Amino acid sequence: MKYEVNSKGYYGDFGGAFIPEMLYANVEELRSRYLEILESKSFRQEYRQLLNDYAGRPTPLFQARRLSEKYSTQIFLKREDLNHTGSHKLNNTIGQILMARILGKTRIIAETGAGQHGVATATVCALFGMDCIVYMGELDVSRQQPNVLKMKILGAKVVPVHSGNKTLKDATNEAIRDWINNPVDTHYIIGSVVGPHPYPDLVSRLQSVISEEIKDQLSEKAGRDYPDHVIACVGGGSNAMGAFYHFLSDERVNLLGIEAAGHGTDTPDTAATLTCGRPGIIHGSYTMLMQDDDGQILEPYSISAGLDYPGTGPIHSYLQAVGRVRYDSVTDEEALKAALELTRLEGIIPALETAHALGVLGKISWKPDDIIVVNLSGRGDKDMETYVKAFFNE
Ligand SMILES: *Cc1c(COP(=O)(O)O)cnc(C)c1O
Repeated sequence: MKYEVNSKGYYGDFGGAFIPEMLYANVEELRSRYLEILESKSFRQEYRQLLNDYAGRPTPLFQARRLSEKYSTQIFLKREDLNHTGSHKLNNTIGQILMARILGKTRIIAETGAGQHGVATATVCALFGMDCIVYMGELDVSRQQPNVLKMKILGAKVVPVHSGNKTLKDATNEAIRDWINNPVDTHYIIGSVVGPHPYPDLVSRLQSVISEEIKDQLSEKAGRDYPDHVIACVGGGSNAMGAFYHFLSDERVNLLGIEAAGHGTDTPDTAATLTCGRPGIIHGSYTMLMQDDDGQILEPYSISAGLDYPGTGPIHSYLQAVGRVRYDSVTDEEALKAALELTRLEGIIPALETAHALGVLGKISWKPDDIIVVNLSGRGDKDMETYVKAFFNE
């Protein structure tokens, strides 16, 4: 496939595996085995079966008529919010827990922002009877309480992280530290297309089921197996990669990734890495990164815990550099407005992260016969407190 990672783990200049020596054996084991495992018949059968019978795939592709009417075009929503646990994250954790078992690991660690990856990880750990430790920034623990409670009831240990601005970056640092200290029995289930090679490629492949299904579903519903536009929000970029994957080499399809602008890309309170960042190294890979003149990582800001990250997946840095994907950003306020709009027009309460993807619909003039697929990455249950505060001033 075009845009594929090379044998050294790079997408153009981006990617690689910048890891401490203590992690080398673990990462190398994964690197040398992941493709063979992913392609094995037994893995594929079990993965597919769990996606179907446990996660509830394929997720529907819904033609959103009232939303389409509003923007005078044809909008389809890929309903990842209907995946078990409420987001696309489970596609990845199911694949990685199968891989961990094959590699003989018994202890699972993860980082989480909005808590969706933490819940998806705690869920598969319960399913496979493995120990689960989830690192989560203290601020996120307080703003995503429903998910913290879910992780606890599922049997995971949630460790609040007090460093930095107490969000996703800090949780990831802590998870990496844990892995360094527990290299033998532990697998680190990274929640997005970030981290050292092979994670970005591994997670992209596990999420690619999203675009595989979109192709089939569009054939049936629209009479052709490709849309004109695919829109997805980008934190680390895994739901976007899943939705883009099978369209990357089809240049008829415009791909649009939406980051969180926070209070605006002209303010310091933003998480729009691909607009505001420069190349640098974060969490094991060379990628676009928000940093100051001395290369110190800047604290990101977004109302959405799942997008509040100063880096992005190296493949997105590459796809931006070569111009294959266009990246834009949407502010807190625009996202909130878009969340309420979808709720009132279609009866679907989206996650705050997803609302950023929806927020771009009003910023572009679409053609009436355009077919647009928005990847509805997750549901809004976890964000009810924020929504109620914003919409009813309560
Ligand atoms: C975690 C999450 C995101 C952001 O992560 P990506 O890796 O960029 O997809 C987006 N939407 C939802 C609902 C999430 O849970």
